[in-house]
Amino acid sequence: MFENLSERLSGVFDRLTKQGALSEDDVRTAMREVRVALLEADVSLPVARDFIKAVEKKATGAAVTKSVTPGQQVIKIVHDELVHVLSGDEDPGRLKIDNPPAPVLMVGLQGGGKTTTTAKIAKRLKEREGKKVLMASLDVNRPAAMEQLAILGTQIGVDTLPIVKGEDPVAIAKRAKTQASLGGYDVYLLDTAGRLSIDDELMAQVAAVRDVANPRETLLVVDGLTGQDAVTTAENFDARIGITGVVLTRMDGDGRGGAALSMRAITGKPIRFVGLGEKMDALETFEPARIAGRILG
Ligand code: GDP
Repeated sequence: MFENLSERLSGVFDRLTKQGALSEDDVRTAMREVRVALLEADVSLPVARDFIKAVEKKATGAAVTKSVTPGQQVIKIVHDELVHVLSGDEDPGRLKIDNPPAPVLMVGLQGGGKTTTTAKIAKRLKEREGKKVLMASLDVNRPAAMEQLAILGTQIGVDTLPIVKGEDPVAIAKRAKTQASLGGYDVYLLDTAGRLSIDDELMAQVAAVRDVANPRETLLVVDGLTGQDAVTTAENFDARIGITGVVLTRMDGDGRGGAALSMRAITGKPIRFVGLGEKMDALETFEPARIAGRILG
């Protein structure tokens, strides 16, 4: 992830660090290049603009430009600003799932990686936190998706709610709740249906499930490769359903990474995890300092 952005920024910073003292013009020129690099990475315009403004303000002071290592100092300011723009939740990987059984609603568009991520999170909760986890697929229009969750459940050793033909999503959510209570589960993950694009019917269905499930967490799973579209999808889901966090998938791909940088600033919602591959272990907690380090190479 971020390969192109990283490359562009390291070019800019190489030039800066090779210079001795910096003039305010040098900083301004560098920041113009950083701004272009951010926009090319599909960071949204207002976020890129605010970012540059904040860095410029801190970097043009005499203490920086006249220091012994002005280039390094500018890089540090950019790093800190990246951490700032990426930061959301203090402990993004810890889901708020006290008081068992805790419902967690998984929402998103079809193909975004929702089912895969549901299983990845289940595995993580089981292995790292020792939770007893139940998963249920609510995607009644796509029997293959329901099967897929059951197969993943077997693979990772996590129970799935038995499939009952003809049941609607709200009924499945209710049955999952009963099963989770009776079976002594700590948490149950509801994998809702996705569509190719946002439509009213889908939103109404997910909202109805939300109303009966009363989820402790509602995680939106979006394809990180889709850049600003991912951010728009998050805004839509948040307005209609209310989300508590975002999982950005396919961050192992050569996406431009802009979604990660814009998400918090535009939606106000934290990124909690990133998906880094198809395997069940390919999920990482979203840690701003580590991500900023990767961006700066
Ligand atoms: P859903 O329709 O949203 O439930 O999407 P799926 O979970 O079925 O995922 C669609 C495809 O994306 C599958 O082939 C997954 O293996 C793949 N996928 C999911 N997450 C990731 C990821 O983080 N990286 C990569 N490379 N592939 C992923």
